Amino acid sequence: ADISAADVEKLNVLGHGNGGTVYKVRHKKTSLTYALKLIHGDSDSTVRRQLLREMEILRRTDSPHVVHCHGMFEKPSGDIAILMEYMDFGTLETILKADGTFSEPKLAYVARQVLNGLNYLHSHKIIHRDIKPSNLLVNRNMEIKIADFGVSKIMCRTLDACNSYVGTCAYMSPERFDPETYGGNYDGYAGDIWSLGLTLMELYLGHFPLLPAGQRPDWATLMCAICFGEPPTLPDGVSEEFRSFIECCLQKESSKRWSTSQLLSHPFLCRDSRTEW
Ligand code: ADP
Ligand code: MG
Repeated sequence: ADISAADVEKLNVLGHGNGGTVYKVRHKKTSLTYALKLIHGDSDSTVRRQLLREMEILRRTDSPHVVHCHGMFEKPSGDIAILMEYMDFGTLETILKADGTFSEPKLAYVARQVLNGLNYLHSHKIIHRDIKPSNLLVNRNMEIKIADFGVSKIMCRTLDACNSYVGTCAYMSPERFDPETYGGNYDGYAGDIWSLGLTLMELYLGHFPLLPAGQRPDWATLMCAICFGEPPTLPDGVSEEFRSFIECCLQKESSKRWSTSQLLSHPFLCRDSRTEW
């Protein structure tokens, strides 16, 4: 049964984002904990549009690899909110900061979980467009779920080239900047695979792979690195399987990048282990 906004009380802030705030909340009757993503009625129209888009996508999804939505509210004041399952281990970004870089078996496990989620989304014609460590949530069962659908896209019948500048530009694929050179049969799905490749590299290296450690990203440097540079590669010492997997994700030409189902049978995933955590 759906829960209404009046049934929950705020405990603390879990995260701030573009215009919205995510709270940890408690359902008063059951004492169960949830996450509530809230934007105020007076927020600008882009922010509202993003949360409404996210609601639309969460309404359509039902997968153990996508954060589960328990209810949505729109108050007369104009506030809109999404009540989600609470992911008590935080995000891959916070886990990286707290526990340091990920081993290969741990990364293979992460890759499999995220690919299962992307496979579900892509087969339902949804492109996430903002895959990165802070949008991948983790719970105490070590389940990893895809969240934050604010800039996602539901593909229509027509092949809609969705090369608008949405998402975190650092993780954007070459064809998002330059579809003519890197687009091939550009449909947008492969952009999520590029972002997954960068995400896994970041968790291995401990810093964003397209920039030297410690350098603050600016838009122009990033665009040059993505479009004119070679794709980043892993340092010496990693397994051939891991190197190959990353290469399959980080092909600059989007049509050469592997799909979710191809990657799910890549030999790197055989190395996965959740016991490494
Ligand atoms: P934004 O568009 O603001 O980035 P997100 O949906 O990514 O919105 O949420 C922002 C942050 O809030 C996340 O990076 C995470 O730290 C926290 N968060 C979001 N949803 C949950 C959840 N269901 N459980 C726990 N933490 C969450
Ligand atoms: Mg986010």
